[in-house]
Parts: sequence; structure tokens; C-alpha cells
Amino acid sequence: MNLNIAWLYPDLMSTYGDRGNIIAVTKRAEWRGIDVIVKDISLGTAVRELKSSDLIFMGGAQDRQQKIAGRDFLERKSPIMRDMVERGVPALFVCAAYQAVGRYYKPYQGDRIPGPGIFDLYTEHSGDQAKRLIGNVVAEILPSFWGASATPESDSGHARMTKRTTIVGFENHGGRTYLGPALKPLAKVIKGFGNNGEDGFEGAVYKHAVGSYFHGPLLPKNPLLADWLIQRALETKYGKRIPLPALDDTLEYRAQTAVLNRI
Ligand code: GLN
Repeated sequence: MNLNIAWLYPDLMSTYGDRGNIIAVTKRAEWRGIDVIVKDISLGTAVRELKSSDLIFMGGAQDRQQKIAGRDFLERKSPIMRDMVERGVPALFVCAAYQAVGRYYKPYQGDRIPGPGIFDLYTEHSGDQAKRLIGNVVAEILPSFWGASATPESDSGHARMTKRTTIVGFENHGGRTYLGPALKPLAKVIKGFGNNGEDGFEGAVYKHAVGSYFHGPLLPKNPLLADWLIQRALETKYGKRIPLPALDDTLEYRAQTAVLNRI
């Protein structure tokens, strides 16, 4: 078995250490004997490289880089990405990427950056950099995320998997994101700001695509999400459920607990 991961704009949108998500998914797949190829997809990359991928990742960036990537993303990459998301290819969009897949992002300065609306949401910067939403953040994944097909136990195929639904991370964004009526949030904020610091929710989920404000990076300290993405990629690629053998996640959850204890 193998997985092709499309990493969108690694040269522009990886400002907050989100490359750690690529490392986490790659290692957790390889530790299960799954070969992984990571494809850097940026401004000049042929869209066939994106189209042939099984998992999509796009990370965080400052407003300036978002503007540089914006036109290429909207006009060249997003039509392919929309089709992939619609047919169940999993994706993780972190912060600026989460903003970019919505209908628009109004940055701190300048005009709106239009988006493809793959996620029915919009984001507007507060207009005051002193009011950036920054800090450690803890949230509880909503039961609706697991749906009927994907629960922690069934995905990882080992009974001793505790139903860990707490996720931890670090957020740093000026944008406030508001979800459309049918778009489901990923999690309920326990500590921190989340999407907008007002409605108490964090992130969004559409089919197998996940948007989140969690840097940290997100996946190394929240292995359940990493495995959920790998599982969905395998299912969509091979057309059947392929349980993942258990891994010893002691270190991962020790790192998660360290963050929980700190805040
Ligand atoms: N530039 C965007 C904002 O300030 C996204 C920041 C990020 O990716 N951390 O909201």
C-alpha cells in the first residue's frame, strides 16, 4: 500500500511549523508499512500532481503570503481540490489554509482575498493586530466528527484505544472565521479562542476535509486525528476499510498532557 500526500505551498504557507503535520502523517503511515510520497505543490506545479494525490495538506501563513498564493490557489488549484474533497479525499487545512478554502478572507490591510468556497465560511481580520487571537488552545472534538463510519476504536482496530477526543494546539491568527449554517465545527473550545473567540467553536469539517486554527503542530500531539486522515485516505483510495495496527502513543499523549498541565 502507498499514499501520495499533496503539500500545498510549502514555500509560502508553512510559517508556523505546520510541516510537523506532514512528518507525523508520513511516519505514522510508514510505521504501518505504508509507503508515502510527499509532493510539494506550489505556484508553478502542474495540477496533475495534486489530482493524483490521496491526502491534501495546506498550512499557515502571514497575510502577505496568503495574497501571493491566493490567485494561483483560486484559479488553478482549487477547482481540482474541490473535486477531490467532494469524492472523499481527506484534507487538513490549518489557519491561513482554513481561511483560504472559504468564500473570502479580508486581511489586515488591503482588499478581500476571494476563495473557492470549498468550505462555506468567511474570515475577516479584526483590523487591530493588537487583538490577534494567540495562545495555547484546548478543544473537545464533537461526536458528529466521528460519524457512523469512523470511530477511534474502529479506525485503529485496537480495543484498548481510549476514546480520546481532546485536542491541544497553539493559535495565532488575526482573522475571525464564521461558518455557514450547514458547515459543522470540528470541536468545542475548552481553553483559548478557536474560530472567532465568540461562538465557542474551533475548526470545521466538510466530508473528509478538516479545517483548524491549531498550530503546534496539530497532528503530533493529537495522533487520533493523524490516524483518522490516514484511514480516510486509504479507504477512499482502495475502496475499503483498512484497519490500522495500533501504535504506542505514550510519547504523543505525554506531550499532549504536558500542554494540558501547562494551561
Ligand atoms: N494571516 C492569517 C491571520 O492572521 C493566518 C495566520 C496563520 O496562518 N497563523 O489570521
